[in-house]
Amino acid sequence: MAVKKQKRHRKIVRFFTACFGFRQPYKVLCDGTFVHHLIENRITPADEALSKTLSAPVKLFTTKCVIEELKRLGQSHSQALEAAHKLVVARCDHDKRNSADVCIMDIIGEKNSEHFFVATQDVDLRKKLREVPGVPLIFGLRNALFLEPPSAFQREFVKASEEGRSHMTESEYKMLKKGANNLLETEGTRNSSNENDDLEDQRLETQTVKQKHNTTEGLGMKDRPQFKRKKAKGPNPLSCKKKKSSHNPSSISKKESEEGKDSVRSRSRKRKRSRGAKKPLQIDS
Ligand SMILES: [Zn+2]
Repeated sequence: MAVKKQKRHRKIVRFFTACFGFRQPYKVLCDGTFVHHLIENRITPADEALSKTLSAPVKLFTTKCVIEELKRLGQSHSQALEAAHKLVVARCDHDKRNSADVCIMDIIGEKNSEHFFVATQDVDLRKKLREVPGVPLIFGLRNALFLEPPSAFQREFVKASEEGRSHMTESEYKMLKKGANNLLETEGTRNSSNENDDLEDQRLETQTVKQKHNTTEGLGMKDRPQFKRKKAKGPNPLSCKKKKSSHNPSSISKKESEEGKDSVRSRSRKRKRSRGAKKPLQIDS
């Protein structure tokens, strides 16, 4: 049985090395819940356990925000805190302490360009990370560790980029991404003006997404090249059907804002605007 599991895990690791360029030693980003789980279930030494799971040498990371969160949890998590202190701290540039999940989403960014495996017991965080192309996920179940198979979204992403032969185009990527959080993006931005309790969560999430965009550039990791792809500010010409949109942007944009919100152009404009509009509304904190 153990052999079978290991075989399965190896296959998953192969998927990520082949499709996303993960290289040994694999970097595993651990959050507080995971470290706590390791301690509670005496899965130690953690690096040995994880390298057994991945059948390869590993390097364990955490973040400043994770450590701070463990500190705040007090006595019950003191051992986890102690253990977390022994991990390599991935830089996150959060001066004000973010909650650990926001911090990790931030470090992973849009494409996990640092090639982290993420180890967490946080179900919601894992759910969010399944919508990011190259993020393998690890979790513990009692005293066993599991590597999640690639999500449907991740497999689709790979398939789409293979079909596009070399690279997925920006617009394809966006479309795929949109498909994933379609509701989240459109609803969250369109209704930003009329405050609505139901949408509060969604808005928060879109904010997180935006934050992520802002910070990926400044994510200074030492040993890997920085995340290169900048998100295009304007509309992607490849995703606009009619050429004339580039000739006379002012009249087109006016027309579009009247007619429909389906085009990428107006959507991106909408997002920008809503962000500005949102600011005064969220001063409550
Ligand atoms: Zn952080």
